[in-house]
Amino acid sequence: MHELSIAMRIVEMVEAEVAAAGGGTVQRVQLRIGELAGVHEAALRFAFEQAREGTVASAADLSIVHLPVVVFCQRCQQPRELPRIPPLACPECGQPSGEIRQGEELELESIELLERAL
Ligand SMILES: [Zn+2]
Repeated sequence: MHELSIAMRIVEMVEAEVAAAGGGTVQRVQLRIGELAGVHEAALRFAFEQAREGTVASAADLSIVHLPVVVFCQRCQQPRELPRIPPLACPECGQPSGEIRQGEELELESIELLERAL
């Protein structure tokens, strides 16, 4: 299952970041996912709940920032955000463009830790 392997990779990255920061309990994990990343959000959330078990992220909320597709239009000489895909074409002038500037991301944006009570 595609989303499970993604979720496991995310949890591994979170664990590495938290270990590098000296440990802690994760409250929130924020991801940036482009529309072209091919990730099914509901499936990813379900997979994350399984992948986080027994890790520092076992109680973490998953927050997802969706990134629309942006292509660079050669005719307009401008980056253009696409209101829908397909087509991969400039919404202003209709010129097809394969120059994708945004939309393929699958990144760890931030990790929030619970404040440590002393
Ligand atoms: Zn254009």
